[in-house]
Amino acid sequence: MTHVKAVLFDLFETLISEFADGARKVDRANRNDAARLGLTHEVYRKEWGARSVKRSTGAFADYFAAMRDLLGGQNAAVPEQVLRELYEERVLEKKAAFADIRPDVFELLERLKRGGVKLALVSNCTEEEVVSWPDCGLAAYFDEVLFSYEVRLAKPDPSIYKLACERLGVAPGECVFIGDGGSDELNGAKAAGIRAYQAVWQLPPSMRERDSGYPQLVTPLAALDVV
Ligand SMILES: [Mg+2]
Repeated sequence: MTHVKAVLFDLFETLISEFADGARKVDRANRNDAARLGLTHEVYRKEWGARSVKRSTGAFADYFAAMRDLLGGQNAAVPEQVLRELYEERVLEKKAAFADIRPDVFELLERLKRGGVKLALVSNCTEEEVVSWPDCGLAAYFDEVLFSYEVRLAKPDPSIYKLACERLGVAPGECVFIGDGGSDELNGAKAAGIRAYQAVWQLPPSMRERDSGYPQLVTPLAALDVV
C-alpha cells in the first residue's frame, strides 16, 4: 500500500460479470423483444441504442418512461403488460451478473479496506440493472456509490469521477480508477486527473489483446501492486 487514498471501481465486467465460460449467464438468443413490442429488430436496436446516454443519465424517469418514448417515436402502441414482462426479464438478466462473484474480488476489497483505502463505485447503469446491488455482498465495502442514472452523469464525463472524489474527500491525484474499459471510462478517468488501470480479468483473451493504452490488471489482487 502506498500513497493512494482511494480506488474508484467500475461495476459490470470488473467486479461482476454477465458472462461465464465465454457465454452470457442468461441466454438472450431466443428472446425477441422487438417482435413483442411490434417493432422490427433493427428499429428496436437502433432506437434503444439511441437512448443509451439519456437512459443512463436519468433523463427518463425509469425504464417504462424510456420505452414509452421509444414506442411513441415509432407511433407504436404501448403494450403495458409486455413492458412489465420485459422489465422483469431485464432485472433477472442483470441479477445473474451479481451471482457467483469471484472470491478474489472480495479479497481485494477486503484488503483495500483493511489498508485504509476508500472505495467508490462509479457505474453507468439504469435502475433495473442494479436492483441486486444492495444484496450482492459488495455494497458493504463501498464508501460511496455513484450510479449514473442517480447522479445524472455518466462515464466518460470527467464530472462523474470528480464527484466521486469530492464525496470521498480526496483529490483526483490521490486516486486510481479500475475498470474493464467499457464506455471509454479509462480515458474519462485520465481526463479527470485520475490514474487508470484496465481490469482484464473478466475479459475474453481476444479483448485482452486489444491495447487500451492503459496498464492491465490480469487478476483482482494485482491491483494491490498499484495501490
Ligand atoms: Mg464495465
